[in-house]
Amino acid sequence: MSETRESQPSQEYDAVVVGAGMGGLYAVKRLRDQGLSVLGLEGAPDVGGVWWHNRYPGARVDVESIAYCYFFDPELYREWRWTERYAAQPEIQAYLSHVADRYDIRSRFRFSTWLTEAVWDPQRERYDLRTDTGQRISTRFLVMATGQLSRARKPDFPGLDDFEGEWVQTSHWPDEPPVLAGKRVGIIGTGASGVQVIQTIAPEVAHLTVFQRTANYSIPAQNRPADDAKHAEISADVPGYWQKLQGLGGAAEMLGPAGKASDLTPEQQEEALEAHWQAGGHAMNLVFSDQGTNLESNTLVGDFVRRKVRERVKDPEKARILTPHEYPIGSRRIGVDIGYYETFNRDNVSLVDVKADPIQRITPTGIQTRDGHYELDVIIFSLGFNAFTGAIDQSGIRNELGESPIDRWKRGPRTYIGLMTSGFPNLFLLTAPGSPSVLSNMIVGNVQHADYVGDIIRHMEDHGYSTVTVSPEAEDEWRAVVDAAAAPLIRRQVENYMVHVNEDGTRVFQPYPGGHHNYVAKVEEIKRDGFRGFDFGAGTEGGTEAALAASSRGGRA
Ligand code: NAP
Repeated sequence: MSETRESQPSQEYDAVVVGAGMGGLYAVKRLRDQGLSVLGLEGAPDVGGVWWHNRYPGARVDVESIAYCYFFDPELYREWRWTERYAAQPEIQAYLSHVADRYDIRSRFRFSTWLTEAVWDPQRERYDLRTDTGQRISTRFLVMATGQLSRARKPDFPGLDDFEGEWVQTSHWPDEPPVLAGKRVGIIGTGASGVQVIQTIAPEVAHLTVFQRTANYSIPAQNRPADDAKHAEISADVPGYWQKLQGLGGAAEMLGPAGKASDLTPEQQEEALEAHWQAGGHAMNLVFSDQGTNLESNTLVGDFVRRKVRERVKDPEKARILTPHEYPIGSRRIGVDIGYYETFNRDNVSLVDVKADPIQRITPTGIQTRDGHYELDVIIFSLGFNAFTGAIDQSGIRNELGESPIDRWKRGPRTYIGLMTSGFPNLFLLTAPGSPSVLSNMIVGNVQHADYVGDIIRHMEDHGYSTVTVSPEAEDEWRAVVDAAAAPLIRRQVENYMVHVNEDGTRVFQPYPGGHHNYVAKVEEIKRDGFRGFDFGAGTEGGTEAALAASSRGGRA
């Protein structure tokens, strides 16, 4: 189909999927395969989503690659071989590109095209879309596969415009990144992204100055070559392994807890701590079954990690600054590293504690803190994201009242099962707040959600429905489910991007923290119950006609 400009009539689709990341790619395939006409929109020039935008040096997945991939085609699973336990970004990008080509998904997408407006027309029961390239598109269903970590916090340090060197954001790593080799580089931000950049670029730069505000916990990934035996085991029964993942809390296999800390002797506790340290990465969140809810148990894990940090960092002053102490371990997402703390043993790496010595401004030649000036050629910002709401907020989605979904989320996101929000018919938000989302293996969550959307649409076609929506009451019921799962958690009390804090101090935990397995059990039960809580309509003439046309159509995509 050729491009449509403002003056031309809009192109009509059954479904538009926004985002060509791992969720959007699969959603396009799934909806097309069930006979819908589907268009994908992607702002970047290529597939990959979060993996395309975050192409910073050292970007790497922190869920084992053996489970961080697609399972829908056993042949694909068997043929694609990951080289490492935790694949690096170029390999993930190559994988997503391979999938896009192999299943003819790429051809369904328009790249370098940002959605700027999507307005629901209740008469025609369609969203009218506009893009930044001037295209007009009309669709019955709008699927936002825009991810939860796609809108970065912009650096707003005074003086940035006057900086004479180059600056860059990890979240928008450019096609032509600044040369780092031999340069004086500064980095602000030591979250999961910062950790990966710091440990990767330190050997090549002339000098690296790390500006740290809060000392975060980081655990060695224990990365190693991919496990061929495990790959062969999964390959023998790919659908079976997919089912297994649906029954796991994080939708990935991990060393499980040794029990409640208080049920174990000090020797058993130490053994469990060491075993989980050796297992690597997020296993450290699962040493004791009660470490997420019991502060004493949590402190045992935190103290163990603090000890390890002090062992890993030789300089006592650097070790003091890097030792995490401001919040309990696991209440913010841990970093998963490959030699992060050891990086600070290098002569060319220095550390500035910006809580003690705050950044005052960027100068033409570097960064001015209260106590000193740091001369820099390049500044890297790794400041995190406007998580959960950022991308939806920027897409111009409006209902018939002119509201955006975010207008109704003032007291925290409101969704039914983390997939739909009231007041917005036929709008699906993949892995949105209210689903396990960033607490789980994201590729599994995205596929599960895209399949669920496909099942809802099929249900509608089977019954001649043209619209689906959810009520505020259904959202309240689901909010109670999420709140009940979040209530005992330490992390609910800690400032972190997963918690929405209202002006009156009430806190809303955004993702569903009860585990992927429990989430899937609940939403599958809702499905078996005829999609209980979803409201279906065959409202207007146009809508009904559209529904009937769709249900009598076969594979016209
Ligand atoms: P993040 O965890 O939110 O970290 C942002 C960092 O920037 C923090 O250290 C923060 O300090 C600092 N910061 C923000 N504003 C600052 C300011 N004005 N001055 C000084 N420091 C400032 O963001 P992220 O590292 O991009 O990670 C976000 C999420 O992405 C992770 O939780 C994870 O889910 C995902 N991720 C995953 C992987 C992976 O799979 N391996 C890799 C990267 C990211 P404070 O702590 O003091 O706020």
